[in-house]
Amino acid sequence: MENFMPNFLKKRAFLTPDRPAVYFQNEMITFKELYERSYTVAGQMQGMGIQKKDFAGVLLKNHLDSVVVLFALQLLGARAVILNNRLTPNEIVWQLEDSGAAFFILDDSFTEIESVVNERLHHINTTTMKKLFASDSVTPAIQEEISLGDICTIMYTSGTTGYPKGVIQTFGNHWWSATGSALNLGITDGDCWLCSVPLFHISGFSILMRGIIYGMPIVLHERFDVEKIIQTIQEKRVTIMSVVSTMLTQIVDALEEQRLPGYFRCMLLGGGPAPLPLLQSCQKKEIPVFQTYGMTETASQIVTLAPEYCLTKLGSAGKPLFPSQIKIVREDEAEAQAGEVGEIMVKGPNITPGYLNRPQATKETIRNGWLNTGDVGYLDEEGFLYVLDRRSDLIISGGENIYPAEVEAVLLSHPEIIDAGVTGIEDAKWGQVPAAFIVKKADSKVSVEGIEKYCVKQLAKYKVPKYIFFTEELPRNAAKKLLRRTLREWIREGRFST
Ligand code: ATP
Ligand code: MG
Repeated sequence: MENFMPNFLKKRAFLTPDRPAVYFQNEMITFKELYERSYTVAGQMQGMGIQKKDFAGVLLKNHLDSVVVLFALQLLGARAVILNNRLTPNEIVWQLEDSGAAFFILDDSFTEIESVVNERLHHINTTTMKKLFASDSVTPAIQEEISLGDICTIMYTSGTTGYPKGVIQTFGNHWWSATGSALNLGITDGDCWLCSVPLFHISGFSILMRGIIYGMPIVLHERFDVEKIIQTIQEKRVTIMSVVSTMLTQIVDALEEQRLPGYFRCMLLGGGPAPLPLLQSCQKKEIPVFQTYGMTETASQIVTLAPEYCLTKLGSAGKPLFPSQIKIVREDEAEAQAGEVGEIMVKGPNITPGYLNRPQATKETIRNGWLNTGDVGYLDEEGFLYVLDRRSDLIISGGENIYPAEVEAVLLSHPEIIDAGVTGIEDAKWGQVPAAFIVKKADSKVSVEGIEKYCVKQLAKYKVPKYIFFTEELPRNAAKKLLRRTLREWIREGRFST
């Protein structure tokens, strides 16, 4: 049976019209104003031909106008293909074609992309936001209700392990994600969520959806600026903020002897592994960190560590949220025991129904409702999840498993190392051995031997990199995630001799 709900934004504007919805720069708009603006833009979109169920690519910055564009599409029941604005023109063209988008709306500043798309994708009706906002508005056909199974957004995975795949996110996925988060963190009067992560990622977009569903204001920042963040937390009485570890590191450093105000109750940390030294410094500075694990396919966090466990379960991503389940599966497909490592499988109403136009990939990834995350990890006796690494990056050396993330974390704790990436190199004796690519500080004199000695003190011998290469920069994708497959290509191409 299909489940219907009222249009999220329209319902919110009806329930609490005068509450603040979004703070952006010096502006504040209420839910009623956000609805009215989105309504007008929905009319303008309809004027350009956008209708229910159409796919519209959007290339946006973190800006109030972008929020309006995203909700205008929802009002029409059109599907937003939300593109990462750090992609190259070629990647944008590829994702637009792959998704079958018939429309493309982009921020005025992306002029190069606009001309490339106009030149190469004649079938797509492209407009800048400025042109869209200046066009004639017709009376829009607002979707008074939505089916929870309807597609709301398409978001591409980061492309860390291979080609990015378009993830279908339904209204139900976003609804259950927001609900699961609320059942975990609670919603208190006076909550205010700071968003300085990109709106084009599920981390940022999910904040928008929570704002509407909870009736909670969000503060939107164009980008992460640590001084501005600390100031805003005080000025706007921010209670919750989403961060990735590089942001949190900057916050910890910038705070020095200062402390965040008492009403600040949650630093939601996700996107990748959390280095232990960072978690320890947060404890010292009384920053309430909630470690989380999630992915584009789970419409944001699916596993979160409640704060009462942050001391005893340091390094764990926590337990699955109320609506969701996890299990660990061994290579022989049997369910793993506590402490046994295997692939992390997740299930729940926040999980994507599949990849857009990729029935084969969908079939391989989701079976009986369980999504194979491609990550490996284990559950402890009490059911807390520990994420180790990606399955495809695992190094097997003399029959022992090595998780590159563990070795990288040790290398990164070296005071003269700025960045580190680890992958396996074929080896006649051991099958594979670990190799490290290292970016050291400009003035650093640290040697290969020095790094080896440092590693030997902290890692079992088989985990210590057998090759250490210095490089200027590591390959990262538009989401800033390390591309270990490119490291493997570097080795295959002989760019670093062994
Ligand atoms: P692709 O699927 O195209 O390879 P991606 O998996 O990097 O790209 P995202 O959906 O942005 O794309 O990232 C989700 C992944 O990020 C997870 O599958 C996991 O590997 C990693 N991740 C997220 N949270 C954590 C965490 N707490 N600890 C370790 N890894 C994490
Ligand atoms: Mg992935």
